[in-house]
Amino acid sequence: MLVDSHCHLTFPDFKDDVTDVLARAKLVGIETFLSICCKLDEIELLQAFTSAHPQVYCSVGIHPHEATPTLQQTPDLKAVIEKALKFEKVVGLGETGLDYYYENSSRGDQERSFRLHCELALVHDLPLIIHTRDAEEDTLRVLDDYPGVKGVFHCFSGSQFLAQEALIRGFFLSLSGILTFKTAEDLRQAIALAPLDRLLLETDSPYLAPIPHRGKRNEPAFMVETAKVLASIKSIPFEEVTQATTDNFFRLFSRARSS
Ligand SMILES: [Zn+2]
Ligand SMILES: [Zn+2]
Repeated sequence: MLVDSHCHLTFPDFKDDVTDVLARAKLVGIETFLSICCKLDEIELLQAFTSAHPQVYCSVGIHPHEATPTLQQTPDLKAVIEKALKFEKVVGLGETGLDYYYENSSRGDQERSFRLHCELALVHDLPLIIHTRDAEEDTLRVLDDYPGVKGVFHCFSGSQFLAQEALIRGFFLSLSGILTFKTAEDLRQAIALAPLDRLLLETDSPYLAPIPHRGKRNEPAFMVETAKVLASIKSIPFEEVTQATTDNFFRLFSRARSS
């Protein structure tokens, strides 16, 4: 069994065929999903969706792109998030973090929102789903203000530096279709050195389809391509990748185990 630890199944891209998408994933052994929240509007959709699909869990969080409008429109953001955390299928906080590549929200607002997620992660003992792009040092600086916080660097495409710094701090790294890209040799080298017991797999569907599906809408079934590349990087059987990444998921997202 494999787990897609980061997908966006409530995005409009899947509105016509999500049942088929889940069935195709099951056929290739992907049986558990974490569908990620990017903004407040998605909370109700995710609650309805995960209620209808026992194998799908969800998060609650504000994507760094959404930080400015969310903070402006929601003065009681902390209370709104805390209320949403009570829903039984919620297993993590995010995606949150810093994105200086697009900088769709101001850096100050991104950091304020990120810090709120870090505080809540500690109070509610939930893992963070961290999105970071062109902001490695600031991301680590914020996390270091919250000792004991745990989580995963999602869609990890970072440097050897970030891999090491994240691992030293006890974080997990989640690998997307980027791992299969021809241009990702540095990433593969960084992952070759990372311990298998800290790696997760994800699609970030509908984005970032792995080779040989690159350019298409991504879907969870395609994650087997990323798993195959991970097996070859580590020179281990496919089944060992399956077992380890699944165990890692349930170790980090421990609320997923109980339901
Ligand atoms: Zn992201
Ligand atoms: Zn995402």
